[in-house]
Amino acid sequence: MEKILQTDIKYLQGVGPRRAELLKKELGITTFFDLLYYFPYKYIDRTRFYRISEISGDLPYIQLRGRIEGYRMIGAPRKKRLVARFSDDTGTIELVWFRGLSWVASSYPPGKEYIVFGKPTRFGSSINLVHPEVEEVTETEKKINAALQAHYSTTEKLKNQFLTSRVIHKLQATLLKQTAGKLEETLPLPLLREKGLISREEALINIHYPKDAVMLEKARLRMKFEELFFIQLNLLMQKVNRIKHVRGYPFGKVGEYFNRFYHDKLHFELTEAQKRVMKEIRRDLGSGRQMNRLLQGDVGSGKTLVALMTMLIAADNDYQSALMAPTEILAQQHYNTISNWLEGTGVRVGLLTGSSKKSERKILHDQLRGGEMHILVGTHALIEDEVQFHKLGMVVIDEQHRFGVAQRARLWEKSDLLPHVLVMTATPIPRTLAMTLYGDLDVSVIDEMPPGRKPIKTILMNDSKRERLFGFMRQQIREGRQIYVVYPLISESEAMDYKDLEDGYESIVRAFPSPEYGVSVVHGRMKPREKEISMKHFIEGRAQILVATTVIEVGVDVPNASVMVIESAERFGLSQLHQLRGRVGRGADQSWCILMTSYKISNDARKRLRIMVETNDGFKIADSDLKLRGPGDIEGTQQSGIPFNLRIANLAQDSQILQLARDAADKILKKDPELNSPENQMLKKGIHLYDKNDKDWSRIS
Ligand code: ADP
Ligand code: MG
Repeated sequence: MEKILQTDIKYLQGVGPRRAELLKKELGITTFFDLLYYFPYKYIDRTRFYRISEISGDLPYIQLRGRIEGYRMIGAPRKKRLVARFSDDTGTIELVWFRGLSWVASSYPPGKEYIVFGKPTRFGSSINLVHPEVEEVTETEKKINAALQAHYSTTEKLKNQFLTSRVIHKLQATLLKQTAGKLEETLPLPLLREKGLISREEALINIHYPKDAVMLEKARLRMKFEELFFIQLNLLMQKVNRIKHVRGYPFGKVGEYFNRFYHDKLHFELTEAQKRVMKEIRRDLGSGRQMNRLLQGDVGSGKTLVALMTMLIAADNDYQSALMAPTEILAQQHYNTISNWLEGTGVRVGLLTGSSKKSERKILHDQLRGGEMHILVGTHALIEDEVQFHKLGMVVIDEQHRFGVAQRARLWEKSDLLPHVLVMTATPIPRTLAMTLYGDLDVSVIDEMPPGRKPIKTILMNDSKRERLFGFMRQQIREGRQIYVVYPLISESEAMDYKDLEDGYESIVRAFPSPEYGVSVVHGRMKPREKEISMKHFIEGRAQILVATTVIEVGVDVPNASVMVIESAERFGLSQLHQLRGRVGRGADQSWCILMTSYKISNDARKRLRIMVETNDGFKIADSDLKLRGPGDIEGTQQSGIPFNLRIANLAQDSQILQLARDAADKILKKDPELNSPENQMLKKGIHLYDKNDKDWSRIS
């Protein structure tokens, strides 16, 4: 990076040590580079000036030009406010401040001409601008205001130190002046020409101070492309590297274990999608390279079965497998499913979780070290434990978004060569997002459900219909079905959420009294042992209703459960609702998902929930979720260990640019896989610019 851009932000004129500290803490800005790449979140057209006579109470933000005639202080000592009379040729209004009174009065002396910017509000019979932005009309500012004005996100703390959007904007001007002529191009000229992109310097100037709308668009395109291009280049290089340098065990053989299972135990045909994915996996396993594959498929599409067959191939080649699940309940369930499938095949399966007893562990350890155990299922106890494998050749990770990168890496330490990796996720990640999140993984998709499933019917209901809901539940129970009732749990520490759950549980117990009905409850504050007992109650059919927090979100398989009631559904993200809904519809009976909301919800919330009613397609839902909420909110991305805060690109809207960027990166790497040629040296620097967080982010191995 250019030396000047590495300069500590405190040395920028107008910043200093105190503001630098704040910028760092609040926005993560520590260098000139960080500030220059701190992009506006919106632009306001400041070419239009209103006249005071035109103002009414319900205008959005407006801009006026006139004089401050004078100030007065009003109100009791503690509730003082400062009021300025502001006039143009057509009339007078009042500007009002509640904070920073003396600072305002001394900064904008009366008698001068100012531009003020704010939202008019009606106050009794008069109209005010409360806390407007004020700016003296000077020559330079006339120029700045002649165009679209950039606005930056700030925080309350920053504003208290007068680091408002406006001040940040001015700092950008200072910085741009200082870096003028010193900014190096980051993208090769031929690429700029081919894509019709403007230069970096021109783009950075116009991002902060757009000459006009056309230049702003060009600037944004250039910076979005740059960002996505370097992220993709980085990911693809890692992939090339992995393929070249990381050898994997060749699992050429399909033998006894697999065949016994396939011919004797599997009573149904694989779906076409499952067959295709198995072929993809077998090609990887036989290639002599390490497999790094993401297996995507909607809830219930049959991923676990694919994982199982993959582990059997490992066993046929004398290697052990580990299957890692994010929760104890899910690990237990995988263990049960897999042990059932493998009964009589001679394949040995073990379970290791946080609550495995010491004596059990000892036996497990011995069997693993001795190579008698073929498949170990577990939670991240697998990583933390003193487990030593004899020959670990395959790692399957379920619902991987719950694991951090570092956690994954620790599994590999347990073997000398890198084992093959299959990552299963039921969160249907839109293609654009998958490309960015898992750019260096190969992707397999199971896009077909096993036959004979009836689509789940989804119904939207509000609180006033609760009696009807209970009636419906009674009827379903009479028919022998079981029911989930799920409460949102925004965070484990949220006492409010537990209150909701407790109240809900009580009202259900009242409406469904024992001994006629059985009601179980599970939530995150219970001990694993208690949870397990409660779940068991439900799984074995002794309880007809399971009241739960999102604990059950992942993987619970109770085919007899046919109704999923989701309380306060408006508080969940769509993808999460979809995951929850996937808990039912596993048997042959008609299943239902009832989305309960409070009586009044916003139009936006209603729109989101309608999507759930209209489609069962996880990919469509994930796409809508991404568009409606932005990628930062998509489940799991925060925990994924991947820096998600793109500076300017928006994965929901910029999929075309992403595709272009990826293709461009691909083309360059095809010619020069390690970027060794002189003209590609600049690209190495560019990758670095966008890789500040972690050297191995998004890397699986
Ligand atoms: P996922 O892991 O993708 O949620 P599972 O592998 O748990 O899905 O499969 C869900 C259910 O469907 C299981 O009961 C499984 O036995 C069954 N199943 C899987 N594949 C098929 C198939 N091809 N035909 C019929 N049933 C299947
Ligand atoms: Mg599953």
